[in-house]
Amino acid sequence: MSDKTKFVFITGGVVSSLGKGLASASLSSILQARGFKVRMRKLDPYLNVDPGTMSPYQHGEVYVTDDGAETDLDLGHYERFSGVPCHKTDSITSGKIYQRVIDKERHGDYLGATIQVVPHVTNEIKDFILSDITDEDFILCEIGGTIGDIEGQPFLEAIRQVAYDLGRERSMFIHVTLLPYIPTAGELKTKPTQHSVKKLQEYGIQPDMLLCRSQIEIPQNEKRKIALFCNIREENVIAALDVKSIYQVPIAYSHEGMDTQVCKHFGIECKTAPDLSKWEKIMETITHPEGEVRVAVVGKYTQLLEAYKSLNEALTHGGIANKYKVKIKWIDSERLEHEKPEDLLSDVSAILVPGGFGQRGTNGKIVAIKYAREHKVPFLGICYGMQMAVIETMQNVVGIKNAYTTELRPDCEPVVGLMTEWEKEGGKEKRSKDGDLGGTMRLGAYPCVISPNSLASKVYGTLNISERHRHRYEVNMKYEDMLKKAGMLIVGKSPDGKLPEIVEIPDHPWFIGVQFHPELKSKPFDPHPLFVSFIEAAISKSRLI
Ligand code: GLN
Repeated sequence: MSDKTKFVFITGGVVSSLGKGLASASLSSILQARGFKVRMRKLDPYLNVDPGTMSPYQHGEVYVTDDGAETDLDLGHYERFSGVPCHKTDSITSGKIYQRVIDKERHGDYLGATIQVVPHVTNEIKDFILSDITDEDFILCEIGGTIGDIEGQPFLEAIRQVAYDLGRERSMFIHVTLLPYIPTAGELKTKPTQHSVKKLQEYGIQPDMLLCRSQIEIPQNEKRKIALFCNIREENVIAALDVKSIYQVPIAYSHEGMDTQVCKHFGIECKTAPDLSKWEKIMETITHPEGEVRVAVVGKYTQLLEAYKSLNEALTHGGIANKYKVKIKWIDSERLEHEKPEDLLSDVSAILVPGGFGQRGTNGKIVAIKYAREHKVPFLGICYGMQMAVIETMQNVVGIKNAYTTELRPDCEPVVGLMTEWEKEGGKEKRSKDGDLGGTMRLGAYPCVISPNSLASKVYGTLNISERHRHRYEVNMKYEDMLKKAGMLIVGKSPDGKLPEIVEIPDHPWFIGVQFHPELKSKPFDPHPLFVSFIEAAISKSRLI
């Protein structure tokens, strides 16, 4: 680590869901716009080792990095806003910290010592914060949860100590809070923020900046009051007003002076304004689209859109690339099990079936895929959606009614089955039926080779790609010929030819299924080619309906 690397710690107070992740990601992008090299990390106080085994209803989407970490969805924001790939070393939970401490204890590394939260757990957290850093100018560390959570305390103690060790000239604390608006009084309330800062001070942390979420403009006298009571410079009380699009946040924060004040804190001179043209261009397209296109997402977690965060964003990016607004019609796949598909799907120009696990709603997904195939509606199947697309063709075109996945029905015709071994970086990964569920899927980036002349090859413009994976089951290659006769081609495979990665139906305007998660790599300023092409196909279809 260079001794010029500076650390910004971001905490949240008052309530959860304040958009701390977005705030951190936006700060990273405005610091980048000033020419700095930035890296972002997330520290989550919950006890799971990683979010991989949590229900999306509990936690939202599980984001996967190239190196195969299953992480919090905030890492998706970080990558989308900064373009900097996150690694395993950028995401940690209490569970993982304790696991490390206990492993060391068993190994005898602390021989003779009584193992305690301070210093053993806090030291492990400090080691994580300071590890794997090269020449970055800024490391932004977001602490999950809300100030006052019991699980969060060791993390606050650890960041206090890091700031103490490095000195205030290399560390900064930003606290994200909420100023509730009380309509009957016509006032913004500052008291919860004051209490939250008091609580932080109890832990020995004096925030240097407050980022105050607010529905309305914060009057200067309120800023002054907050500054005085919270012991913060008035110009460091930054308003974070609600905005129309998340991609406006970097512009809005910079406008409020956030980057200038961060630089000032570290004694960095800011002579010019940051170059935010990239974000301005994106906002221009978002606010002045040439048209609107409706796309159905047929999934299981449609009640909680956080579960499909990256997907939602990737569709928006596909829209930005085509100068169109993408309107997503979220359809709970269970509805397709007892309602007519045309009643739910005839008003959309494309259908997407995302990743998933378990039986609920699965047959509804198959109904949606059949509709897309038969009505020539552009279709994109992702992971489980691709597996279901293959099952649909096997059931309804080949005629094997019992074709299914062994994930749900062990006695089926096993078109999709458990992967027991696969190649990874020259070696072999092996899994058994009775192994652990946590962290054991085929995770992270794997290469895929695309067949020439396929739609996928045109979409990507190359035959060699790398995409991120998160799955335990896989389409069985032995059905390739049967699928081919039924009009479905396997056009993307792992380099050893053993694992199908992409399927398509050539006799269809746009029908692609992918075993990987392209949504995880899409960025607003670098939209994923599959989403760009999928939305383009949807726009063409919309001109026909
Ligand atoms: N449940 C399927 C599997 O494990 C698909 C997973 C997914 O969609 N991410 O293979």
